[in-house]
Amino acid sequence: MELDELVKTKESEKKTVDAYAAMQAGGSLEPYQYTAKELGSMEVEIKISHCGLCHTDLHLINNDFGISSYPLIPGHEIIGKVSQIGSAVTALKVGQRVGVGWLAGADFTCEQCTAGKDNLCQNGQPTCVGHEGGYAKYVYADARMAFPIPDALASEHAAPLLCAGITVFAPLLRHGVTGNARLGVIGIGGLGHLALQYGRALGCHVTAFSTSSDKAEEAKHFGASQFIDTSQPAILEKYANTCDFILSTVTAGLPWASYINALKPDGKLCIVGVPDADIQVSALQLILGQKSVISSVVGSRSEMQAMLEFSARHHIVPQIETYPLAEINTVLERLKKNEVRYRAVLEIG
Ligand code: NAP
Ligand code: ZN
Repeated sequence: MELDELVKTKESEKKTVDAYAAMQAGGSLEPYQYTAKELGSMEVEIKISHCGLCHTDLHLINNDFGISSYPLIPGHEIIGKVSQIGSAVTALKVGQRVGVGWLAGADFTCEQCTAGKDNLCQNGQPTCVGHEGGYAKYVYADARMAFPIPDALASEHAAPLLCAGITVFAPLLRHGVTGNARLGVIGIGGLGHLALQYGRALGCHVTAFSTSSDKAEEAKHFGASQFIDTSQPAILEKYANTCDFILSTVTAGLPWASYINALKPDGKLCIVGVPDADIQVSALQLILGQKSVISSVVGSRSEMQAMLEFSARHHIVPQIETYPLAEINTVLERLKKNEVRYRAVLEIG
């Protein structure tokens, strides 16, 4: 075959992918098509069956983090089947069910990657920032960021684990929050309701801090030993010195001093939710109890594998609402209004 003929054949093989995209900051999502790039040697193409809606997608649509570019195809809680593999991929097979989370790629050679902290790779490729995400029929990712899904997990349940699940599981694992630990979880949404389940499965005494009193019964069902209605923040004074570790999954500013006060000496407040205002803390309040404010971002590949195995073994699944892709704007509205119970999942194919 002549070279220009070969180029033409390659061009015609390029896939047009149906997706939904925000065309501008804060805009509603619209049907959108993009042409897939040629598959890299270490990449896989995945035909998406399900994609969860993380609150980060909403932050990205609104450009809350200042890192969005448009058209923006959100979606980073993806499950699907491998439909094509790059020439150097050996660990995955066509037809295999896999999941992709926040990162679709990393350099796998930097100091962080070599130390097994690939979630901190400074050359990481987020799945839906500067890359087409999962509110679409297909997604493209490095094969090393596509995780085989245990058979025990249904695809609609597995999808939210790829971001919400790993984000709350990884810090508990990393900081040894297990056994007799007293765990507090602030915000019982997509991340929070999974944190309650992991906390219970790890053997912790779990306290749910929530502004939504109607979530009390379900929070106890998920694993909370007690439910604190924080719609009147003064109630937090009663819980001084009660938690070893508090995980905040909330998207708003909170009375941080009260939560630091709720920590026992040496306790840790771990921020995973992105509040809309900076966090101000008193150094003296921390020092006098040797307390820390820490953070965590999704999880590494090994933490992801551990999370999937742990979730399958302990039957940890999100409580979900499912929707077709075409209803994406209705679902985003529900997420904005804190109406989703507890994770929305798009059924795509
Ligand atoms: P979500 O489902 O909307 O849940 C957030 C929860 O926060 C709500 O259900 C609500 O819980 C609470 N909340 C909301 N507004 C509040 C307010 N004004 N005051 C007090 N509480 C409020 O969101 P999500 O998907 O779980 O994500 C939560 C956050 O985590 C987002 O900021 C997201 O970007 C971030 N995130 C971070 C990472 C990471 O790697 N660090 C990964 C994924 C997501 P109650 O009704 O119980 O009060
Ligand atoms: Zn997410």
